Amino acid sequence: MEPVTRIINWNVASWMTVLLYGGTSIAVGLSVLRLASRVRVWRAGLPEHVRPRWSDAMAKLVRWTSGRGKMAHDRFAAVMHGLILWGFFILFVGTTLVFLEEQTPLHFFYGVFYIVASCVIDVGGAAFLLGLTMAVYRRGVVRKPRLQSSAMANGLLALLIAIGVSGFVLEASRIAVDLPPFERASIVGYPLALLLRALGLSRATLQTLHQSLWTGHAVLSMALFALATSFLFRHVVVSALAVALAPRRSSGSLRPYPLLAATTVGTGRAVDLRWRDLLEADACTTCGRCTSVCPATAAEKALDPRGIVLGLQGLIDASAAASNTVSVPTALEKLTPQALWDCTTCGACNAACPVDIQVFDKIIDLRRQMVDLGAISPAARVALEGVDTRQNPWSHPPAQRNSWRESLTLPVLDVTHGSHTRKPEWIYWVGCAGALEPTAQSISRATAALFKAAGLDFAVLASEGCTGDPARRLGDEALFQSCRRRNQELLHATGVRKIVTHCPHCFNTFKNEYPDSDQAGETNGSGLEFEVVHHTQLIKQLLDQKKLTMRSKHTGSATKVTFHDPCYLGRHNGEYDAPRTVLDSVPGLVRVEMPRHREHSLCCGGGGGQMWLESAGAKRVEGLRLLEASTTGANVVATGCPFCKVMLETAGATAGKQHEIHVRDISEVVLDALDVP
Ligand code: SF4
Ligand code: SF4
Repeated sequence: MEPVTRIINWNVASWMTVLLYGGTSIAVGLSVLRLASRVRVWRAGLPEHVRPRWSDAMAKLVRWTSGRGKMAHDRFAAVMHGLILWGFFILFVGTTLVFLEEQTPLHFFYGVFYIVASCVIDVGGAAFLLGLTMAVYRRGVVRKPRLQSSAMANGLLALLIAIGVSGFVLEASRIAVDLPPFERASIVGYPLALLLRALGLSRATLQTLHQSLWTGHAVLSMALFALATSFLFRHVVVSALAVALAPRRSSGSLRPYPLLAATTVGTGRAVDLRWRDLLEADACTTCGRCTSVCPATAAEKALDPRGIVLGLQGLIDASAAASNTVSVPTALEKLTPQALWDCTTCGACNAACPVDIQVFDKIIDLRRQMVDLGAISPAARVALEGVDTRQNPWSHPPAQRNSWRESLTLPVLDVTHGSHTRKPEWIYWVGCAGALEPTAQSISRATAALFKAAGLDFAVLASEGCTGDPARRLGDEALFQSCRRRNQELLHATGVRKIVTHCPHCFNTFKNEYPDSDQAGETNGSGLEFEVVHHTQLIKQLLDQKKLTMRSKHTGSATKVTFHDPCYLGRHNGEYDAPRTVLDSVPGLVRVEMPRHREHSLCCGGGGGQMWLESAGAKRVEGLRLLEASTTGANVVATGCPFCKVMLETAGATAGKQHEIHVRDISEVVLDALDVP
């Protein structure tokens, strides 16, 4: 009976195997050397304050390779990448098995194993080619605007397709010589072999064809090994590392600034990037998802998040080729400064990146360097000086801070002058916008009215100061740390352990940035261990507990409402449901969604210090968002952030739509519908 196996390297001359093993060794060596030069540049970067945990890294990698990562919502892309990745993996394992069978004393490539392996390897090859065909369709036929057509991307696709096709025809030419029946297990190779036989090719021709294809396939595979860590090819290797090592922190929590503790502060060194940023820049697939969701890009400003990441990649290229340092040329010389100031820190880029690149964190680090160098715009300087000297970025006199509550009777806690006698359960933190901006003061009044109506045991503070959110996002880390210290002392002095705020920026800062006692290398352990909630969360609780009740019939002005997700409540802190549940509990109110909502929401344009900057674009971000809101037919766009309210209201006035669509905070909508005696 015919043995169920095949002779490895059948019809292969000895010079061909020398070519294969010699060439592959050189190709792999070249790739390893090239990767080592990149790793040297990454290692020259500044340290990260959090070390990755291997168990986390493995879990993230498993999730990513199983298609449950960020690409899962783009089914086509997820299937395409899955087919290519797993197809390639199966082919790689198959080739390794053949190598082990030939070059080691192990002998397993026969009988049932041979049949099953032949079938699985062909399935892997077919999946690989199907995935590549989908990629060609996407790039060549659908032509997604975000996908840059480059010779490198097209060359990578062509090389992979050539390897897949030549592998199948090579297999078919071998099978076609004798057509052993057990080779039917090769579900692609066998039908192709029948086709070659049907073409009338002689045994000698098939053998010649086999030799030529074997050599060609080997050369193409060597080219792939040689290029594996170069150009766009590199992302295949490095993106797995970026995903595995991605941080676990909330995207709303900015990293501490390593230069704060270093002697290099303010000395003008422009390029002090962290090793993670360097590695992540090398992982970029150039897919453009970050750019396609960026509100600044949509408003035609200078910012292109992909361009920022690729700019950093260019620095690594220069450094790897030059001196293994990252300071030639400097990052700031290469990048457009205005692009760095256009970012709203909405986090959409980070959320969209399929390989977990933390895009806007790099922008903030570069802003910090610019602040160190004094290279900031007059508007940013005024806002920072306001935070520093008047404890608010608008530079209002501190005495105006209490004007929003002058007509109200509210419990006030004054720890500075020691005049408080009773400790409430909750501190209602009003924030700079809610205290000082006329558009936002109505939010503070409505929220306080709701808390009073619910009988909540709360007090406002007599002497709030800025949390430091704008200072940190504008790159002034030292100023943020001083705000943090001042507020920590103030809050600790109250003895209260629960904070509610209507401002998602204050909420995010208290929740994610104050408790980190390692920030900027501080080791005093004075982190803020408070329960921090957003007012929409507390209002929901009060409704659930029937401490707030609505009128049975709706009488407010809002009839059809759409909710705009504030970035620092939704994307950065994952709270999408509480505000919607509150709106849904208002009788007679119809809630509709904008096309971009929840995780995919579009920023209002006010975060990241944009409220105080004048960054020019052909369009306004807030205008784009208001347009989306008005296309739903809603007469009210509700939000849960004073910045969003200010920005969207301004957009409404600019577009002359202020009478068609009103901008209201959720607290105001609820107060309108409240059943008060
Ligand atoms: S955080 Fe938002 S504005 Fe900034 S680069 Fe990312 S998507 Fe663009
Ligand atoms: S940073 Fe991420 S989302 Fe942006 S182009 Fe690179 S891989 Fe794509």
